[in-house]
Amino acid sequence: MQTLRQTNIEIEAKALAATILQEKEAGVVHFDGTAAVTDAFLTPFFRAVQREGFQAKLERGCMVLRRCIRCNKYSAGVYLKGSEEFELCPLCDRH
Ligand SMILES: [Zn+2]
Repeated sequence: MQTLRQTNIEIEAKALAATILQEKEAGVVHFDGTAAVTDAFLTPFFRAVQREGFQAKLERGCMVLRRCIRCNKYSAGVYLKGSEEFELCPLCDRH
């Protein structure tokens, strides 16, 4: 059984791939395109959790990152949902 998170990551991965393909077909050069500012693994995760209502916490316009307590990589984004704060790691929180 697929979780909501997994479904949302799939939806966002397909949408991102479609956008990049459309831009390629339209002749958009790489550095002006979505492909230059996105990542096939990370971007669908960021968009999926936003789809679930998590809002990235920003400091001076940048996403706040912390060391993930599970994988120990400096990859966990800090998100707000209502008044609660969450740390979601694109490596560990994909399920
Ligand atoms: Zn992690």
